[in-house]
Amino acid sequence: MARPFNFSAGPAAMPAEVLQTAATEMLDWHGTGMSVMEMSHRGKAFGEILAAAEADLRELLAVPAHFKVLFMQGGGLAENAIVPLNLSKGGAIDFVVTGSWSQKSLKEAARYATARVAASNADTQHTTLPPPTSWQLSADAQYVHLCSNETIHGVECHELPDLKSLGSDAPLVIDFSSHVASRPVDWSRVGLAFGGAQKNLGPAGLTLVVVREDLIGHALPVCPSAFDYETVADNQSMFNTPPTYAIYMAGLTFQWLKRQGGVAAMEQRNIAKAKLLYGFIDGSDFYENRVAIDCRSRMNVPFFLKDERRNEAFLAGAHARGLLQLKGHKSVGGMRASIYNAMPIEGVQALVDFMRDFEKEMA
Ligand SMILES: *Cc1c(COP(=O)(O)O)cnc(C)c1O
Repeated sequence: MARPFNFSAGPAAMPAEVLQTAATEMLDWHGTGMSVMEMSHRGKAFGEILAAAEADLRELLAVPAHFKVLFMQGGGLAENAIVPLNLSKGGAIDFVVTGSWSQKSLKEAARYATARVAASNADTQHTTLPPPTSWQLSADAQYVHLCSNETIHGVECHELPDLKSLGSDAPLVIDFSSHVASRPVDWSRVGLAFGGAQKNLGPAGLTLVVVREDLIGHALPVCPSAFDYETVADNQSMFNTPPTYAIYMAGLTFQWLKRQGGVAAMEQRNIAKAKLLYGFIDGSDFYENRVAIDCRSRMNVPFFLKDERRNEAFLAGAHARGLLQLKGHKSVGGMRASIYNAMPIEGVQALVDFMRDFEKEMA
């Protein structure tokens, strides 16, 4: 039986092939007689899983050799503290506030450092992206924080800023939780990238950190050892027990991504999916998307029914057609379709077909 199409913002749909492989290997991974979740993280079998996951991720994202890949725990919200604990030196940080997630990052960082707002799109209800040339960057900032895809508001930064050309020597830190592996990353413009796995890489519980080596080793004395990037890097992500099963699942997803042709091929598919959905919404008088065209997210598409009294009927009708978890985030309202890597274009087409039928039915 075909599975429904799941538009959850996260934890989100996984590729069916990945789930199938995990199911097949659940009781016995490669003849070891153990499930991956029953293995010592120090054993040979898990060592292979971890090494393969890191190698595949490095290949997929073209991570340069002078960056460390860390598999951590705590999610994006923990990184909101862990990044300033490691990088701020207790000094100043510039924040580009483009939605709920960067707002949260700013608030958390203020507990450890001087957090400044370099730019904000609050005046447009988080529907625009302030152009980098308008950012008020401070000369003493230890880093600049940007959420490169705002999952809740559906705002994506399609070209990472070149801070050097803006007169800043500070490294750029990106929260790429909700669009990691949906497109290539220009590492020449990034000092650190972090993201929870549960949007685009695997199950919840794994947090990915990719950090330039020279930014490691400057943690504040109060930084917990398990969250000190130097400790984590020196121990190959095994200072404490890493989230072994989540790493295994992410590793299977990386192999799936490679079979799909890698991240550049994924990006082309994601562009096509987003074009289909936004194109339909823009051509309709019944639905609307309020995000400025130049910064619309390819991953998270918030949309509204112009007559919001029809929201419940829309969600019930969608569910009956096997289109799940379309309700918008409570802070924005309306609907949100998250169309991560694992969502095939057939799923987006099914959503558009339903939206068209629903509109006709309501006419
Ligand atoms: C989901 C999300 C987070 C939060 O991650 P947690 O794992 O819940 O801590 C942070 N940032 C962005 C952009 C997200 O989409």
